[in-house]
Amino acid sequence: MPTTPACIFCRILTGEAEASLVYEDENLAAFLDIFPMVHGHSLVVPRRHLAGLADLDSDLGGKMIDAGRKLATAMRPALGCQGVNLFLADGTAAGQTVFHVHLHVLPRSGGDGFGLRRGLHSPPARHELEEQARRLRKALGSPS
Ligand code: AMP
Ligand code: ZN
Repeated sequence: MPTTPACIFCRILTGEAEASLVYEDENLAAFLDIFPMVHGHSLVVPRRHLAGLADLDSDLGGKMIDAGRKLATAMRPALGCQGVNLFLADGTAAGQTVFHVHLHVLPRSGGDGFGLRRGLHSPPARHELEEQARRLRKALGSPS
């Protein structure tokens, strides 16, 4: 698998850096986050070095989600959590700090202190939503 020596996740995948492994198959591995946001916070990473979402094909992207789904199912009995968040930061503006694409799997329990800040308190005007939807449909190549 193509790896990048400067990348900490590649170094974990080649065994040069330590990690606490929770899952692996021929395409993916998952290990515990070294600075967990919550107890059991795990990261699903492809074995090959791919920086972000745009570098993933549908097949590998689907496999990452599926590994996250399996992990989420296992976390409930293993860690006694009541829910799970899947989270992926794509790009610096989104909070990505390690440029080897990864899916955060966050076991959740009431009062664990983790949360996302809520956005607008009132919905935007429908014409603004329609304009955003039109731009996105165009970029996706959908007929408008
Ligand atoms: P992100 O900010 O979405 O790019 O997430 C990168 C995550 O990688 C952070 O939650 C870090 O705590 C985690 N991380 C960085 N270095 C390591 C490491 N050596 N082992 C495990 N997790 C790491
Ligand atoms: Zn890498």
